[in-house]
Amino acid sequence: MLLRRMAHQLAHPNDDLSSPVSSEYLSQSSSSGGHRGSISTQATTMSDWTDKRMFGSEMEVVDEEAARVVSNARPLVPVRPKGVYRLDDFIIQRTLGTGSFGRVHLVRSKHNMRFYAIKVLNKDRVVKMKQVEHTNNEQRMLECVQHAFIINLWGYFQDAANLYMVMDFVPGGELFTLLRRSNRFPDPVAKFYAAEVGLALNYLHGLGIIYRDLKPENVLLNADGHIKVADFGFAKAVDTTTWTLCGTPDYLAPEVIGQQRYNKSVDWYALGILIYEMLFGLPPYHMTETNHLILYDRIQAGPSKIAFPPAAFSEHARDLIMKLMETDPSKRYGNMRHGAKDVFAHPWFREVDWEKLERREITAPYLPRIAGEGDASAFDRYPEDDVSLQYGKTGPDLSGHLFPDFNYTAER
Ligand code: AMP
Repeated sequence: MLLRRMAHQLAHPNDDLSSPVSSEYLSQSSSSGGHRGSISTQATTMSDWTDKRMFGSEMEVVDEEAARVVSNARPLVPVRPKGVYRLDDFIIQRTLGTGSFGRVHLVRSKHNMRFYAIKVLNKDRVVKMKQVEHTNNEQRMLECVQHAFIINLWGYFQDAANLYMVMDFVPGGELFTLLRRSNRFPDPVAKFYAAEVGLALNYLHGLGIIYRDLKPENVLLNADGHIKVADFGFAKAVDTTTWTLCGTPDYLAPEVIGQQRYNKSVDWYALGILIYEMLFGLPPYHMTETNHLILYDRIQAGPSKIAFPPAAFSEHARDLIMKLMETDPSKRYGNMRHGAKDVFAHPWFREVDWEKLERREITAPYLPRIAGEGDASAFDRYPEDDVSLQYGKTGPDLSGHLFPDFNYTAER
């Protein structure tokens, strides 16, 4: 019964089962332009129907096997000095994207005139949707990562109503937009992006971080066409395994849907889905009429019935996708004894020079057309609605203490 209701909530995220906020959030997160919204059971307010012992809060269980695998994890420490920023340092230019609890804006620094992206999260909404822990994780994980293919976080702060995260502006737009415009990618193009994503995942896993929301919407393209993985809203440092049901429906691994404990192998599963979507244009379990219950049944049934039209998939591509989408995590590529090496050594990736790729010495297949610094034409337009006029205001602030790492840098 419990699982059934959870499945219902996952299947019908817009159903207003207990609070108007949940439907507001979920309709926002399944935003415009065909973007697929991320979901999390912690985004519901249905604590009454969750068995706290199992689902009420993130819960880690000790899994000795998994613990051994990540025992080489590098320590998580901030990688760059945190800059002290305030809203007043920036001029807001336009909206780049809408996230689950707010927006991402293109901004320009009044001091060095450079462009940045600021992600703004409304604290009330974060609290109501039970995403406090995820939001703190996002900031803490981003602070500790520095990789060519991952977004840089420069600083973060809060005011009475909002949290702010200052990042590099990544001007080439989303891989999602490029993919939808191209319909599907030729094999070498898909391989290039998959290889860069694979390196980013391997780096995160080396730090003990599971990313948990891989999809083309979250892979941005830099001016030079190389990727930057963004949106660490579900990223989490996990020594062993975790339970929380979160991610994006098409990309959820079967063990996540099945409410089993899971580990970093869910990211490798998602890479399999991403490769499929890049080569075919749609994810493997896509349905024209979205019915999440059927989707979850199909995911749990495993990949054996997926069609691989030969026009889109080489034998090697098909083989790697099947190995990444393996239902049993202990047999899944990326999660076995040799870890990511199995993935990188797969014949589909044969021509990839991994060291050169990591040094960004391989020319990207597509160079975004960028007119100059601050050109955001690669991003969809969103109604601006004057939301930024609400930023930086003083007023009641009941939840600031829940975000202890976010300093108040303006007068209160
Ligand atoms: P997020 O809530 O982090 O998924 O961000 C929502 C959307 O904002 C993304 O899908 C991107 O389109 C855009 N975005 C996020 N971060 C950046 C960034 N650093 N540079 C440019 N666009 C971004």
